[in-house]
Amino acid sequence: MDYVVPKTGFYCKLCSLFYTNEDVAKITHCSSLAHYQKFKKVLNKMAKHLPKTDL
Ligand SMILES: [Zn+2]
Repeated sequence: MDYVVPKTGFYCKLCSLFYTNEDVAKITHCSSLAHYQKFKKVLNKMAKHLPKTDL
């Protein structure tokens, strides 16, 4: 079982993607359009739950 090793990495909860390389996860992935669109969706969702403060 030499090919099965425990490995820690970086998981994007928004995209359900797992990366073993920190730079790829934090820089390459987080600047990708797919991640940005999911991030924007979450922000919109959160904004709806917040009380309106624009009065
Ligand atoms: Zn992502």
